[in-house]
Amino acid sequence: MSRIASVLLPMPLPEAFDYAEPDGMALAVGDQVAAPLGPRLMRGVVVALREAAGGNRPLKPIDRRLDEPPLPANTLEFVQWAARYAVDAPGQPLAIALRGARAPRPKPARVARRTGAEPGRPTPARRRVLEAAAGRPLSPADLARAAGVSSGVVKGLVDEGVLEIVELAAEARFDQPDLTRPGSELNPSQAAAAGLLNEMLDEGGFNVALLDGVTGSGKTEVYLEAVAHALAADPAAQVLILLPEIALTQAVIGRVAARFGGQPGEWHSGVAPPARRRVWEAVAAGRCRIVVGARSALFLPFTGLRLIVVDEEHDGSFKQEEGFIYHARDLAVVRGKIESAAVLLASATPSLETLRNAETGRYRWLRLSARHGTAQLPEIELVDLRQSPPPPQSWLSPPLVEAMRETLARGEQTLLFLNRRGYAPLVLCKACGERMTAPDTDSWLVEHRYSGRLVCHLTGFSMPKPERCPHCGAQESLVSIGPGVERVEEEARQLFPEARIAVFSSDTVFDAREARRLVEAMAEGEIDILVATQAAAKGHNFPRLTLVGVVDADLGLRGGDLRAAERTFQLLAQATGRAGRHDRPGRALLQTYAPEHAVMQALQAQDRDAFVAAEMEEREFAKLPPFGRLAAVIASGPDGAQLEAFMREMARAAPNAAGVEVYGPADAPLSLVRGRRRKRFLVRADRGVDLSAYMATWRARVKPPNAVRLAIDIDPYSFL
Ligand code: ADP
Repeated sequence: MSRIASVLLPMPLPEAFDYAEPDGMALAVGDQVAAPLGPRLMRGVVVALREAAGGNRPLKPIDRRLDEPPLPANTLEFVQWAARYAVDAPGQPLAIALRGARAPRPKPARVARRTGAEPGRPTPARRRVLEAAAGRPLSPADLARAAGVSSGVVKGLVDEGVLEIVELAAEARFDQPDLTRPGSELNPSQAAAAGLLNEMLDEGGFNVALLDGVTGSGKTEVYLEAVAHALAADPAAQVLILLPEIALTQAVIGRVAARFGGQPGEWHSGVAPPARRRVWEAVAAGRCRIVVGARSALFLPFTGLRLIVVDEEHDGSFKQEEGFIYHARDLAVVRGKIESAAVLLASATPSLETLRNAETGRYRWLRLSARHGTAQLPEIELVDLRQSPPPPQSWLSPPLVEAMRETLARGEQTLLFLNRRGYAPLVLCKACGERMTAPDTDSWLVEHRYSGRLVCHLTGFSMPKPERCPHCGAQESLVSIGPGVERVEEEARQLFPEARIAVFSSDTVFDAREARRLVEAMAEGEIDILVATQAAAKGHNFPRLTLVGVVDADLGLRGGDLRAAERTFQLLAQATGRAGRHDRPGRALLQTYAPEHAVMQALQAQDRDAFVAAEMEEREFAKLPPFGRLAAVIASGPDGAQLEAFMREMARAAPNAAGVEVYGPADAPLSLVRGRRRKRFLVRADRGVDLSAYMATWRARVKPPNAVRLAIDIDPYSFL
């Protein structure tokens, strides 16, 4: 009796395809196979096997089983769960799960090895080479370097047959974590939190805890303890530490390496494909026991996952907004459940969703309310820009400049925080009033002085800054409006020409290495003033940083969406929390036009709980998350009339369900991107509603025209 194999392909197809299992192939669920799709062979994963009933039409056979690690059953289940939740094709999360498996293999390493023959002339240089060759296998060049000799010496030994060059398959070498190394001695509240976490790990099974501790309270120290405990309990145990930004992975990798004496697996978009392949295979084989990564690390083929740490769990960057749309914090909890693992969410400013789960007892709630040691939380002052305005065409108010001067004089560091890349967010013509926008897109072009270009942050379009206004042709009429980090840097240089100043934004720091270099330079005190977007404002630990200046504290409030106040509070609490983390007291100055706003008042009073309580009340009243659920439909198309007609059809097709309200269609706030019109629906549902099922039913009732793209966003964070 032959069998039928259902194979899921890593592409946006609605379901798995059936193939015949060739005789003798003995496939298993999870196997990676090559299966024909049209004229091509595609990599896919077997998701089900069943006996073929006679009389069916013949199926194409699977070409072959790939000599690759199978996808573990739990990973496969997670992929399928994620697709259902996101109302998307299962091939989409599968593509993420196979990203490492599809990357090119690292080239085999060529290493020099002793043959056993003795050298004819044992000079001191040659002896040093042979001593170095006794250790870890090294390439000829590295061996020469390790022995402090010229490459000729190594070559001579090879020619003589004392050393031979062999190719070592690039089997991943992941250092086993050294669990005998002691961690920091924990203070009493840290020890209490660590003790509770250890108990939770010992209980085993799925559990979620919130580690809720003010900035600098030692959350990282505490969770590293939990990591050690989880790994020590079981030699096959694996741990995943998720971070919202690549820059933060670098800092945590450093701390993991220091704690466990070896490099963890590193996983994010900045890791080169062969290195990714290495991590993927080592995770699948259980050789890599600690992974530090960004959101997609959640899809790695873990075989013994015992603990997932989501650090800075409140961070909006955990939401993937393009392609397969998901929230990595929410899916981490799901993966934990599927793996029967513990999940630890850490933050100084937890999301309202997580706080609600903690309040209702679904999550354990561990609080660290003071900074470690003698470090104190910074003093927070509001600078009312109406009373202390900066000079014209400047952005730093007199009180902030004075504080910077004092900080510099004490040899301490300042962080100027402005969550805006580039030089100026808007360029306009003072002759005709034209605002420079990207072609076919309704967003402003941002001026970047480093590159001399005007850039659309939405589409990536860029052009050199023109000499004349493209609209009216006036010469030298284009003026830069408002500040970005580059402009604040310029102002800081004019004010403090002797200071060492750097900018940290995704334009100046493109990769993980660069981020690490800048973070180290800052930690070593080689920078006096760091002007940074959120890329540097969170999570880092800079001992000499004592002043944080928030250039535009009102910036995030202007968007006005559901989470504007929450997000602004979180971001500014994080940014100000960088100050005074060690023995020197810190200070934070928030420049604002709205010092009476609830967010500013709560920040100044350092009263998170009051802010959260007020915000929760509003959300509960409006039945918004975490008291209700949201989903969005975003449709776009080149033809406005066609899109409008489709959206009306979709509105008519919306299923009636108790506890669900559909709003729209409405023009999206970003109503034109790359020549495509955009429209949205917003759906609100009561907590008990299976919103994914509702959206799937709705989606199945409509067939968008070919030119219309339709995306569903469950639990949306962006409303643009
Ligand atoms: P958080 O993650 O809560 O912001 P960290 O874990 O980064 O805090 O700790 C802040 C600083 O205090 C770090 O430099 C850390 O090494 C130090 N620290 C925290 N707890 C301890 C401890 N128990 N012993 C020694 N240093 C500690």
